[in-house]
Amino acid sequence: MSQQETDEQVGVDDEGFLVDTEDCEARETAHRERGTSRPITVVGNPVLHKECKDVTAFDDELARLIDDMFASQRTAEGVGLAANQIGVDLKVFVYDCMDDDGVRHVGAICNPVLEDLAPEQRNLDDSNEGCLSVPTAYASLARPDYAVVRGKDARGNDVRVRGNGYFARCLQHETDHLYGYLYIDRLSKRDRKDALKQMAEGTPRYPVVAND
Ligand SMILES: [Zn+2]
Repeated sequence: MSQQETDEQVGVDDEGFLVDTEDCEARETAHRERGTSRPITVVGNPVLHKECKDVTAFDDELARLIDDMFASQRTAEGVGLAANQIGVDLKVFVYDCMDDDGVRHVGAICNPVLEDLAPEQRNLDDSNEGCLSVPTAYASLARPDYAVVRGKDARGNDVRVRGNGYFARCLQHETDHLYGYLYIDRLSKRDRKDALKQMAEGTPRYPVVAND
């Protein structure tokens, strides 16, 4: 492979789950230091409201995109970032997120698909949610407190990622992004309107792409 053998590459465990809890600090730092932070697209930008293209080339360009996404995520102080949030029409998201056991997860996944949960795994949690593409707004949104996503790693290997609590919320939120949905699209009309009002009244603390 032409891609450099990077120390921060993560493997998979016996069940095919991405090992995303080891060397988090070193891996996240290496990605963002190689990357360039880019401004964040916001609600109304067409790239956020359509399904992104599948990743088909697991090459240096993808690796550079992932580095830029980690850099952008850090600048915006996010816990997850989808490629279309920096204007790139590709199905990939990165994350740096704590689960409800206080364990940090750092990783990237391409072409993610949420797996269906068994009824006994479906416990809804109605915590607050926010999005870098809807700056300064938050709203309560019920989502399952456990999630499993399958897809490919940066080299094209089949992987799965699983998480609980806030990290499960992140996995669902980021996967939604890549299919053209924002969390506010899952709110009631009234709550959505309120979130957009919060956004209109607030000032983002990071660079955003102005809508036309
Ligand atoms: Zn978001």
